[in-house]
Amino acid sequence: NVEVSFPGRTRILTVSNQKGGVGKTTTTVNIAAAIASLGGRVMVIDLDPQGNASTALGIPHSADVPSIYDVLIDGFPLDDVVQQSPESELLFCAPSNIHLAGAEIELVTQVAREQRLKTAIDEYLASLAQPLDFILIDCPPSLGLLTINAFTAAEEVFLPIQCEYYALEGLSQLLGNVKMIQKHLNPKLHLSTILLTMYDGRTKLAQQVADEVREHFSQEVLRTMIPRSVRISEAPSFGQTVIAYDGNSAGAIAYREAAVEIVRRGSNGEEA
Ligand code: ADP
Ligand code: MG
Repeated sequence: NVEVSFPGRTRILTVSNQKGGVGKTTTTVNIAAAIASLGGRVMVIDLDPQGNASTALGIPHSADVPSIYDVLIDGFPLDDVVQQSPESELLFCAPSNIHLAGAEIELVTQVAREQRLKTAIDEYLASLAQPLDFILIDCPPSLGLLTINAFTAAEEVFLPIQCEYYALEGLSQLLGNVKMIQKHLNPKLHLSTILLTMYDGRTKLAQQVADEVREHFSQEVLRTMIPRSVRISEAPSFGQTVIAYDGNSAGAIAYREAAVEIVRRGSNGEEA
């Protein structure tokens, strides 16, 4: 059993990488479930119209279910759409559904279009009797208004990197976007955490990519790496995170270790 403490302040991380298929959604739901297993109260905001994070957390999100779309476009309070995951009393999700696919365009003509998520989160946090320890936002791969809303609402950028060729491609673009958001919309935003995912230690390439990322971002990279694992990839088809699906598998153990590091490091990347 690992001892971690939660200081009672809500950390908001946006899980971002402008590449698709690098493990953003997988990392969001499994880190969230792992933090809940450590005793933290966590909410996942599913900002991807595909709704994969909602699915993996066992959250119904058909077209008639109130979703983050209603929050962003119709001004619903977040409280009206948040559901508890069947996995844990400490794990919550604001689901996405199919309507969110249109939100990118509908947001364009909205008042304060970049701040709508932030406003909803601020109101929600102020209304809670029991505070949340973490909010994790699962972003779509594109830099549209949904991602900009996440960057405006969060303090920390959490970047999963797949240990494969071209892993670093697009990274300078992401960092440039973070800078732009810092300057114009959210001075607090910073890259706090990098997690190496789908690591296959048998390949030289994976080791080289890991070394290169550690060289460039020694402060931000977690020590723990997430191995490539079939258990991780099959869990969502059971509407579960790997923490619930097979808690003793290598993937679940790695996600729990990564979660411990994140909780202990605090928002600036240094050990508490
Ligand atoms: P993104 O959200 O960045 O598009 P996903 O989290 O959906 O990426 O992951 C892309 C695919 O890779 C999914 O099919 C997922 O199940 C699989 N995957 C993610 N992490 C792992 C892992 N550690 N081992 C094996 N498969 C993984
Ligand atoms: Mg995704």
